[in-house]
Amino acid sequence: MTTSDNRLPELSANLRSVQERVRAAALSAGRSEDEITLVVVTKTFPVEDIQALYSLGVRNFGENRDQEGSVKAPQLPSDSIWHFQGQIQSNKLKSISTWADVIHSLDDRKHAQKLSELGTNARVLIQVALEDKLREDRGGVDPDLLSEFLEEVIGRMKLNVVGVMAVAPLGVEALPAFQQLTSIFQEVRKKWPQLSAISAGMSGDFEAAISAGATHIRVGSSILGSR
Ligand SMILES: *Cc1c(COP(=O)(O)O)cnc(C)c1O
Repeated sequence: MTTSDNRLPELSANLRSVQERVRAAALSAGRSEDEITLVVVTKTFPVEDIQALYSLGVRNFGENRDQEGSVKAPQLPSDSIWHFQGQIQSNKLKSISTWADVIHSLDDRKHAQKLSELGTNARVLIQVALEDKLREDRGGVDPDLLSEFLEEVIGRMKLNVVGVMAVAPLGVEALPAFQQLTSIFQEVRKKWPQLSAISAGMSGDFEAAISAGATHIRVGSSILGSR
């Protein structure tokens, strides 16, 4: 397929529409839209699309795979902010830490240890597992063990942990799931007041996430089209 041809008007219209929905959701939640960072998830899409989005003012891009992010990130201007939100593979951490400014999906002690040894400057969010009736494993630290996990990664490993992240489980309503994430965040924030970020919400549920208090939403298909 030809990539850049005629993608700009489409991307521009989709972006505007999502930005409008973010504004409306923030307004109805009594929040300022400035509190919400839209991370445009560009996984599987070509770098030309990302360059088009950059020309439209987007600076926050999200990728799920090191193989893609490590190739795309160097092709964008250096004021781009790269988010990694995929499943972490230990042998990719070194490479991920060369291009990712923010890692949303840390949920494993060994990975944390390795990141710490790499001396990463990345901001890190801890992925939390929300209650899941289908018992699917979509990753994440058990909320009951989150405090202990933070104790280790902030206290002992000195990682720059800035917040929590979750993916709404399938088969549950998104709003209560995201509200659960916010209350987990507020609980751990009593002990670690430096925590400021709640990453939640994708194309299908970002309005619920904004209503529940998300500071970062990760939106792909509503802007770029279906993968
Ligand atoms: C792919 C992905 C997104 C974006 O999903 P869309 O439905 O395309 O908006 C957000 N978060 C994570 C963790 C993802 O894997």
